[in-house]
Amino acid sequence: MKFSKLNIILLIVGGALAFFIWQSNTTGADSSITDKEPEPELTYTKKIEITDGSTYGILMQEARVPTSTRQLIFTAAEDVYDLSKVRLGRTIDLIYNKQSDELEQLVYQIDSEEKLYVSQTVRTSTTATSSDPIWSAARIAIPYEIKIATAEGVIDSSMYEAALAKGIDERAVIAFAEAFQWTVDFVWQVRQGDTFKFIYEERYLDGEYIMPGQVLAGKFVNDGDELYAFYYQESEDNLGFFDQNGDSAQKIFLKAPVAFKYITSGFTTGSRYISAFNISTGHRAIDYAATYGTPVRSVGDGTISFAGWDGSYGNKVSVHHNGTYSTNYAHMSRLAVSYGQKVSQGQTIGYVGSTGLSTGPHLHYEMVKYGTKINPLREVFPPSKGIAEENKETYFGAITDLRQQLD
Ligand SMILES: [Zn+2]
Repeated sequence: MKFSKLNIILLIVGGALAFFIWQSNTTGADSSITDKEPEPELTYTKKIEITDGSTYGILMQEARVPTSTRQLIFTAAEDVYDLSKVRLGRTIDLIYNKQSDELEQLVYQIDSEEKLYVSQTVRTSTTATSSDPIWSAARIAIPYEIKIATAEGVIDSSMYEAALAKGIDERAVIAFAEAFQWTVDFVWQVRQGDTFKFIYEERYLDGEYIMPGQVLAGKFVNDGDELYAFYYQESEDNLGFFDQNGDSAQKIFLKAPVAFKYITSGFTTGSRYISAFNISTGHRAIDYAATYGTPVRSVGDGTISFAGWDGSYGNKVSVHHNGTYSTNYAHMSRLAVSYGQKVSQGQTIGYVGSTGLSTGPHLHYEMVKYGTKINPLREVFPPSKGIAEENKETYFGAITDLRQQLD
């Protein structure tokens, strides 16, 4: 358990400390008072919604921020964040001094992890020699409070539906499924009665639930098989999910070419253009029903050996992975790669469509081993680098408690 919890605590403490130090530096005027929070009653905040087509310049102009201030803020931020990249749907907070009506700080949430703060340094009269105010910028980790939560359920039609019926945040279910993306195909391999249970972090700000954080451990019972995933950092470059034996959850191929978040409906029933791998019907492929435009990902690293039109396959991409395996992806609406290009595992290579001999939007996925089409769901792939022998005892010690909670 020492892994991510500790990291997150350090991150929070680090973030809070950095913010604190930086605040006390920038408030300047009375730097001897270091244990003081910024006083909200001395300021007021203007929230600016970033709408479609708006840019930093336009938004600041609309907020009547003088051109020179706009530029000073932009330049001050440049080293830590490019304000020309502000994103649609987010907000920029402009914090003003209540007495002087002067803009003192700009706050922008960069992503779920960090905020950008650009603040005007208050000078004392003895040091003020230039007329331009000084602005300084910093990226600060958002100081979430972490609570540990557990979620579980029994699958009737799909894991997604089972989780939602239990009120589990869909982002947490998706994160759990991602821990098993090299092991389980949640569309084709899930059975009625399969169970799932996972332990994860929930992030709060000022007591309010914001979002799920890291999944720490998960168990998926698939057709009687007990599958585990534990999040663990063995060393600087070996971090991720590992199973109960210390083998990496990560394998050379992903189980499905469409991410779980796009095919949450689980069992594919009814639609006649959805077929399983079936030698007697000659359908040596797996079909995935998905809406038009759903990203299709390469299941492994490789080189594009075909990208274009191929008769009844429509728009097709083939990936050569190694001397043994290659994969084909057909009926796509649009391709995202070209011949000869190198791709990495999970990279988008095209988008679901219904080109060629197809009666509805779906992905036709084939895996080829030594020139023969095989069933990728049956194939067992070697795992990536697991926990080193000398570290296994520590690893087993770290997961014991989590495993007990899952069982
Ligand atoms: Zn097919």
